[in-house]
Amino acid sequence: MVLAGVLLSGGCSSGSLGSSQSISVRQTLAYSLLRNPRVGLANFHVSGRRDNATAVDNMRQAERGQRSRRSSYQRAPGGSAYLDNRVLWAMHYLTRSGWSFRVTELAGGSHSGKSRHYEGAAFDVDYINGIKVGWENPHVKGFMRRCRQLGAREVRGPGIPGHRTHVHVEW
Ligand SMILES: [Zn+2]
Repeated sequence: MVLAGVLLSGGCSSGSLGSSQSISVRQTLAYSLLRNPRVGLANFHVSGRRDNATAVDNMRQAERGQRSRRSSYQRAPGGSAYLDNRVLWAMHYLTRSGWSFRVTELAGGSHSGKSRHYEGAAFDVDYINGIKVGWENPHVKGFMRRCRQLGAREVRGPGIPGHRTHVHVEW
């Protein structure tokens, strides 16, 4: 199986994740994540805007080997970007560690001006292990720690302005 082969050859679960930005690896990971019961992918934007740049749209575009669409409202610049394979590997390994979560944004949505989302190198999560992200969610700290172990260079969550109800993870 190509799928199993690629996923197994992904190698270590810590350290530098998937420096390769190969399109075939991206397609395989996206295919797998779209069918992974531990990964939810929002088909809406929190803003309520409708476009073809929701998290599930972005993942389907990656599965087809395409660049993922950005939104073009508020601060979002429009256009598109390849999802960074490190983001996809991290999601894969998070589920292998037993986490389940819902992704609200990948390359789409409106974020700050130079956001890594626009480069396909960040994701937002609003549910972890079935519980809404917030102070009272006992899983948030461990999830954030695991993301850092997987090489995320920036992880923000409750306690940081603008992140009361979601965790932001970027490379
Ligand atoms: Zn974010």
